[in-house]
Amino acid sequence: MKCYVCDGRMNKIQKDVETTWKGKTVVFKGMNAYVCESCGEEAYEPDDVKAMQYFIEGAVKQDEYPEIMNVEEVADFFRVSNQTIYNMLRAGKLPAVKVGREWRFPRDKIKAMVFEQGQEKGPIELAARDNSSELSKKDAIIISRYLSDM
Ligand SMILES: [Zn+2]
Repeated sequence: MKCYVCDGRMNKIQKDVETTWKGKTVVFKGMNAYVCESCGEEAYEPDDVKAMQYFIEGAVKQDEYPEIMNVEEVADFFRVSNQTIYNMLRAGKLPAVKVGREWRFPRDKIKAMVFEQGQEKGPIELAARDNSSELSKKDAIIISRYLSDM
């Protein structure tokens, strides 16, 4: 693999990558990376970048809704109206349990619907932590460059 900055030789290494997104710090251990012998430019394997993106999205989504979601939260998650959710319920298209007169939804099953259908793709911005080392700031920049290309 050649360096896209200086055309120098890039050596494959393994390293731990720490990055922060929306205030959450994530450490990825044993990431495959390439380092240029001449200019020190670093790059990550595209597959590893995808894995990082997947886990970051998952970690953030995980915290956005309670474990058991209500109709409003599911509608918000899918960006549809409450009525659409009721229609889907009637058609048996949503994993739900009725508690008394109210519908409740297991968050994991709702999330799985989106990830299985592959609809959830949004721009991801990575920012370095204020107190992070130079290295992890650089990592965040490298990752964000990859993600903006996707
Ligand atoms: Zn180089």
